[in-house]
Amino acid sequence: MRKLWCVISVPFIFNFYHSQATKKRLPCYDINQVLKVQATPLYQPHLNASKSFGVKLLTDAKSVQKYIGNGKFHKIKKAAKGYRIQKLDYSRAYMVSKAKITLENIGIKFSKETKGHTFTVSSLTRTLEDQCRLRRVNSNASVGISSHNYGNSFDISYIRFNDVLKYNPKMEAALEKVLKYYVAIGRIYYIKEKQQSCYHITVRNY
Ligand SMILES: [Zn+2]
Repeated sequence: MRKLWCVISVPFIFNFYHSQATKKRLPCYDINQVLKVQATPLYQPHLNASKSFGVKLLTDAKSVQKYIGNGKFHKIKKAAKGYRIQKLDYSRAYMVSKAKITLENIGIKFSKETKGHTFTVSSLTRTLEDQCRLRRVNSNASVGISSHNYGNSFDISYIRFNDVLKYNPKMEAALEKVLKYYVAIGRIYYIKEKQQSCYHITVRNY
């Protein structure tokens, strides 16, 4: 009888602990695959800028918490002059100080130039874990390293102004003009991402 108990229960206990341990240890991404992806020439300056802030590649919530704890990451207000932040499912409203200030300044300038309109920020800081969750719902999401993984990139929708989802060429042109100004003074890089209908913006360590 005793022998039988062992035969039945030992594999069960082993499986239980084994699956718990695996769940804890294995991240949803393969770091070797992530690091293998070569950035495009258009994207490379974004990654170089990201790596200049002294923030290590953000892997999970704990790594973000570390930078909040040591004062390197700052909370981004949900709404301020000229911008609103969309409900975030796959990113976190924390960025390095220069990125926060630059977003606020872009908002102020856009508001001034459009006499009070607002744009929408659709994504901010993402960990590698966030990125895998996003990839499950959006196959276009990057497999490799993203500048969002360092806390100095954010996306602005060009189809949502004043909280209304609608094509608005006038507002889009006004927004792009502001972005071009910040490129010219050496504060940002941006890419127009047609698949996501957004401007991907990376703040430089100016
Ligand atoms: Zn982006």
